[in-house]
Amino acid sequence: MPTSLIQPEFRVDIDYNKCHKCGRCVQQCGWGVYNFNERPIPDDSKCRACHRCVTYCPAHCITIKKNDLALRENANWSPSLRKAVWRQAESGGVMLTGMGNDKPYQSIFDHLVLDACQVTNPSIDPLREPMELRTYLGRKPDSVEVVSDGNGGFRLAEGAGMGKNIKLDTPMIFSPMSYGSVSLNVHKSLAMAAERLGILMNTGEGGLHADLYPYQDNVIVQVASGRFGVSPEYLQRGAAIEIKVGQGAKPGIGGHLPGEKINKEVSTTRMIPQGSDAISPAPHHDIYSIEDLRQLIYSLKEASGYKPVGVKIAAVHNVAAIASGIVRAGADYVYLDGFKGGTGAAPQIIRDHIGIPIEIAIAVVDQRLRDEGIRNQASIIAAGSIRSSADMAKAIALGADVVAIGSAALMALGCHMCQGCHTGSCSWGLTTQKPELTRRVDPEWGAERLTNLVNAWSHELQEILGALGVNAVESLRGSRERLRAIGLDAQTCEIIGVKPAGM
Ligand code: SF4
Ligand code: SF4
Repeated sequence: MPTSLIQPEFRVDIDYNKCHKCGRCVQQCGWGVYNFNERPIPDDSKCRACHRCVTYCPAHCITIKKNDLALRENANWSPSLRKAVWRQAESGGVMLTGMGNDKPYQSIFDHLVLDACQVTNPSIDPLREPMELRTYLGRKPDSVEVVSDGNGGFRLAEGAGMGKNIKLDTPMIFSPMSYGSVSLNVHKSLAMAAERLGILMNTGEGGLHADLYPYQDNVIVQVASGRFGVSPEYLQRGAAIEIKVGQGAKPGIGGHLPGEKINKEVSTTRMIPQGSDAISPAPHHDIYSIEDLRQLIYSLKEASGYKPVGVKIAAVHNVAAIASGIVRAGADYVYLDGFKGGTGAAPQIIRDHIGIPIEIAIAVVDQRLRDEGIRNQASIIAAGSIRSSADMAKAIALGADVVAIGSAALMALGCHMCQGCHTGSCSWGLTTQKPELTRRVDPEWGAERLTNLVNAWSHELQEILGALGVNAVESLRGSRERLRAIGLDAQTCEIIGVKPAGM
């Protein structure tokens, strides 16, 4: 009997007429695809199409092709469903995967277009006019007192209630990715870029490595159910604290970092024994009500000198009511993570079938908080497949204050979306702790690429604002009137509060 009924997903094709037989493909591949015996011999079954070998082959003689195995056509049983059955019949286990949902669900962002100014409202030239992207993250007071500045102008009075907001130079932050799930060099790249850009990175649930202390003013420290790395010092170091309740890629599921990834440094940072599995339970065992959440929020504020505290939740069907409770419990921001968000590891069935799109979650939460008169009490951070500056602008128009990017940030560092993060063998040195792989990311190089990406999107956002005739991103927030839908059904348009194009 064959050991497996599953044929390789990819074919590694080498043009040996061009091959230098240099062995670089063998060195570069984290998946162990290549053997070298006078020339590189690939084992197709191990290839994940991460393209590291293709990128580094000096002869450009490697091609990775999709293995178009002619499985008999069946509109109900797609090849991927059949392969999943075979895989589970062989393993008897839950199928794990990395990165975000890859199912062809409709993207609502792709069915929204932004308005533009023509004659009646003039557009603004962002190359010649100042365009304000600065955003303040946190609770805003119900009213502010202004006093004369002595020169005929006004300024905020002392203690006007804005003190604990965090200034972001552009309405974008880096999503939580824990040290352990990603390498320390990735964390350093994110922290250095966040400092240069005047934005924030997020520790995820893995604690704060001492090498990141110099960047602590640009770091959100996360408190998840496993409480990894949490201490009074950790809370005091963060610019803000985030309680992680849920994650878009796996709502209702806790975290699991296998013991093989818990090396000495990860164990010190997480405050757990080396080599032990890091398991964060699905629920926080001290939060079973909004009152419990309120108690935790205020405990964290007390412990940190009243720094902003946010709550991260996955986008699910009753997200608006949950967000309202979170704001009433005293959170300074609500982080909404849509069902296409990335992850280091998740059961594939959960990742692909649970949760709701981020576009809907933003719109219903923003509207609910407005209807209840508490929108000013918390900022909304939106994440879960923000793929471009256009997605960012549309998310803000739907009601977000800030967007968070994780997958796009990893792509800036080389990620090719091969979905093998859960294996810990990322050839690009990102979602791994293997020293021979992690050294592939130089933090300085990484910080520069991340800085370039965020700057590029910020420039594009300014262009979009100019076309809309507004000169501050604040004016776009929640302006659903500036969006029109193309090809969305009437019910979705009604839920997100966007008219069809032509109306
Ligand atoms: S890296 Fe390219 S040129 Fe070098 S051995 Fe591999 S296939 Fe040949
Ligand atoms: S981070 Fe690495 S393993 Fe994960 S999808 Fe990207 S390239 Fe693949």
